[in-house]
Amino acid sequence: MASAAGTWIGAERDRAGRIRVGSDLSVPGQVSVFAVGDLAILTNADGKPIPGTAPAAKQMGRHVGRVLAARSAGRAEPGPFAYRHHGDLATIGRRSAVVSLNGFRLTGLIGWWFWGIAHVWYLVGFRSRVVVSFEWLWSYLTFQRGARLITGREPHGGNAARVPGQTPDGQANENHDAARTSGRHTDAPMSSGAPRSS
Ligand SMILES: Cc1cc2nc3c(=O)[nH]c(=O)nc-3n(C[C@H](O)[C@H](O)[C@H](O)COP(=O)(O)OP(=O)(O)OC[C@H]3O[C@@H](n4cnc5c(N)ncnc54)[C@H](O)[C@@H]3O)c2cc1C
Repeated sequence: MASAAGTWIGAERDRAGRIRVGSDLSVPGQVSVFAVGDLAILTNADGKPIPGTAPAAKQMGRHVGRVLAARSAGRAEPGPFAYRHHGDLATIGRRSAVVSLNGFRLTGLIGWWFWGIAHVWYLVGFRSRVVVSFEWLWSYLTFQRGARLITGREPHGGNAARVPGQTPDGQANENHDAARTSGRHTDAPMSSGAPRSS
């Protein structure tokens, strides 16, 4: 579920609590209020929903920054927000990942290194990069299991589904959560984030 912020301002929301924003990411009827990232829902010009990933959130934040700068300078505002998908990265095991960037593909160990370096590279701030690198190394060496999402009951016992590959060992994602909470996010192309469901 998205933040409850949508209810605070009485905005139109979907079932997950995301605010249906206009093409400039403002809240309809409240032109000075914007919603971005996981809190916002809108579709791209091609009709596809914008994914609930860190790169999308960063792009939205940048766009709102441009809108605000234009408004305060009395300039024409930029056109509608357009999400640019740079590619997909996903871990698929303890030392294996797939990378797909505009026709450029990597798999296996080299893909896993690419995945890890890209995620750390795009974290905001040197401190975050160092902290997350050490946390990932620790998780990897100690075979730690990350957080799990419980998505429903399975007929044969287990009822938890992993968030698709977030730690370097392909386990679900304690470390990404660490990244989420330590001041940072990535503009790395990613596909393995939690999907947006409505
Ligand atoms: C387990 C998991 C794995 C993911 N893996 C990936 C991935 O590999 N790649 C990827 O691109 N995306 C991934 N995502 C999605 C990605 O984390 C989000 O899309 C992205 O963080 C959205 O950014 P945001 O700024 O909208 O929200 P957030 O990053 O969640 O930031 C919102 C911030 O607001 C703060 N906040 C909330 N309520 C309040 C309040 N009332 N007052 C003040 N502050 C408040 C929160 O503490 C938080 O710091 C993952 C998400 C999850 C849950």
